[in-house]
Order: sequence, then structure tokens, then C-alpha cells
Amino acid sequence: MSATDDGGNPRRGLTGWLGRLRSPLAAGGDATAGAAAGVGAVVDSALLDAVVSGLPDPVVVLEQDGRVISFNAGAAALAPALRRGDLASIALRMPELIEAIRAARATGKPQRIEFSARIPSVRWSEAFVAPIPLADRGVVVITVHDLTPIHRVEAMRADFVANVSHELRTPLAALTGFIETLQGPARDDPAARERFLGIMRDQAWRMARLIDDLLSLSRIELRAHQRPDKPVDLVPIVHQVADGLQTLARDREVTIEVDAPSEPMMVLGDRDELIRLFENLIENGLKYGASGKRVEIKFDRVAAADGKSEARVAVRDYGPGIAAEHLPRLTERFYRVDVGESRAQGGTGLGLALVKHILNRHQGRLTIDSKAGEGATFSVRLPLS
Ligand code: ADP
Repeated sequence: MSATDDGGNPRRGLTGWLGRLRSPLAAGGDATAGAAAGVGAVVDSALLDAVVSGLPDPVVVLEQDGRVISFNAGAAALAPALRRGDLASIALRMPELIEAIRAARATGKPQRIEFSARIPSVRWSEAFVAPIPLADRGVVVITVHDLTPIHRVEAMRADFVANVSHELRTPLAALTGFIETLQGPARDDPAARERFLGIMRDQAWRMARLIDDLLSLSRIELRAHQRPDKPVDLVPIVHQVADGLQTLARDREVTIEVDAPSEPMMVLGDRDELIRLFENLIENGLKYGASGKRVEIKFDRVAAADGKSEARVAVRDYGPGIAAEHLPRLTERFYRVDVGESRAQGGTGLGLALVKHILNRHQGRLTIDSKAGEGATFSVRLPLS
């Protein structure tokens, strides 16, 4: 079939596209007009509806005079009042879109517009309104494309850059301040110089750590879809991390107790990333849960939903815990319960985001159980190999 196959038929000129497309297959179709339009019209309508319904984006096809010829489920979801044969302007509530249809019909030129809706949630869309000239009358095709995911990614990126800049600016401002003090008022004060240099070293170290965490995050993200394929044993990894954190534990007067099984716990993993993961969790227990005086690490094997076995490593502290409202957001980049405390502990706000990304790559997951005042348990689950 082509749009011009019998464009010379005078009956077609009278009925227009809607008349030609009215068929027994059309919702509310008029059987008499369908019969009058003949077999060709039945095929036209069914084919047009089939093509439109197969398109992934909302699509509405209009007659030259603005009446609806066909639309798909996506369009019906956007504009529930759409009816075949009705004027599109009745059903489409977006004034920008109605204006674009008018302009497309008047000028014969395709139009593109962006619009947003706030109900039920904020969504951004772009619509293409294409007037398609055909032998007799032509049609107007409206395609709507959802821009919401792109807008969200853009907002996240802008947010991320703002956060990173802020995180770097704070220690940088401290460094500049102390340099000026050392050049000026504290020039001849050896005690103050010693103290300020110590603070400056901590601030520089914090900046280095932030950059390190940012680079690790982007490296892990780049490899997000490459599943690690080397068998590694979790038990020595956790022991190694716990041993490496003994100095910090002594500083904070916290003991680390590792309750490890005698047999290996093999997973397919990236050793360095798993070390990083347990470092972050155990270090958080030592930093934020120091008042509880001990951090416990327990291993066990659990059944996953699909019946396969998983390794579970739980890192538990007995510190102040975390109030329920913070739990869902803890793995967001730069989210902290208490920004001042995190900074005082040398935190970057990226530790748990790193943990989440490492686990995603390993097809594992993290659960956090905590009640304010009762410590916190961070449990890591990884598929056993
Ligand atoms: P940070 O670099 O700030 O430690 P994380 O992503 O590792 O960043 O942790 C985010 C926040 O979660 C911390 O700032 C802290 O408020 C909270 N948190 C993490 N672990 C614990 C814990 N064991 N007990 C209490 N709060 C914790």
C-alpha cells in the first residue's frame, strides 16, 4: 500500500484520511463508512494503527484539519482524552504543543518544542510535529520523547560538580588562611607554626583522599559492566584489612574482633576493590562507632533468593548508630549524617558510595541495620563461586 495508490479516486477526496481509515478495526468505527471506503481502507487503518502502536514513543497522527486519525498507548497515557475523529486540541492540554501543531499546519515546516509537566511528578518532554504532505491532503505526525532521564543525569552531574568543588574549596580555604597567618602574624611564633603546619598537613591529606576516592569511583564506574572473574578468598582479605587498621583502632581505643570460618569463602572478585570495600566499612565502624569500643566482623553462608549460596560478611559496631531516616541515603555520594563529624574524621562522604559501586560490579549487595543508640551493622553479600 502507498498513500497515493489511488489518490485519483474522487470518493477519497471527499472523505479525507479519517474517512479512508474508518474501518471495522477502528475503535468506534463506522461500519457504513468502512464499507464505503472499501477493503483498501481496512488495510490502511489496520496497518497505520499497527505501525503507530509499535513505536516506542507516544505518537499521534492527525488529519490536516487537526482531527485525530491514530494514536498509540503511550499517547493515550499522556493525553487520556484523545479520541479518534476528535480535534487533537481538545485532548492535548499543553498550549505549546497546540501552538506547534498550528504552526506546522500553517507553514508546512516541522516544529520541535520542549515542555514540562509537574503532575504527578516533574517530567520533561520534547515533541516533534511533522507535517507530511501526501498526494491529496497530508497528515501531521506528533512524536513525543521523554527527556526526564537526560534532565535528571544533567542535574546529578551539576550537583556532583558543585559538591566536589565545595569539598575541595573548604580545605583549600583553610590552607590559604594558614599560609597567610604564617607569613604574617604567626611569622615568629614557633609553637603556632608547629600547630598550623599540623592542621595544614591534615587538610592537604583530606584533599588528596578526596581526589583518590573520586578517581576510584570513576574507575569502578567505567568497569561497572565487567564482572570480575578471578576467584578470591574473602577470609584473608578481611584479616588483612583488620590488621592494617590496628593503628587506627588503638588510637580510637576500639578492638576489632574477626570471627572467621576455617574454610575459605571463595567469590569471583577484584581483590583490590574488595580490600577497599572492607576498609571503608571497618574504618567507618572505628570512626563513627568508637564509643562502642568494639567492632565485630562475622562471616556466614546464606541462601540467595535464587537458591544459590552467598557469602555474608557483617561489620557491626556498638556506637551511636544511625537514625532510620538516613539509612536509604547513606550510599549517595557526599551524603553524611553529620557533615562536621565526617570532616573531623577525615571523611570524604564517598566511602559508602564506593562500597555500593564495588558491590554492584560484583553482583553483591549491602544491607544496613541500625537504630539510633544501638550501633550499626553493615552486611555485605556476595555470590559464592
Ligand atoms: P565518610 O567519608 O563521611 O565516612 P561514608 O560514605 O563512608 O562517608 O559514610 C557516610 C556517612 O554515613 C558518614 O558520614 C556517617 O555519617 C555515616 N556512617 C557511616 N558508617 C557509620 C557507622 N558505622 N555508624 C554511624 N554512622 C555511620
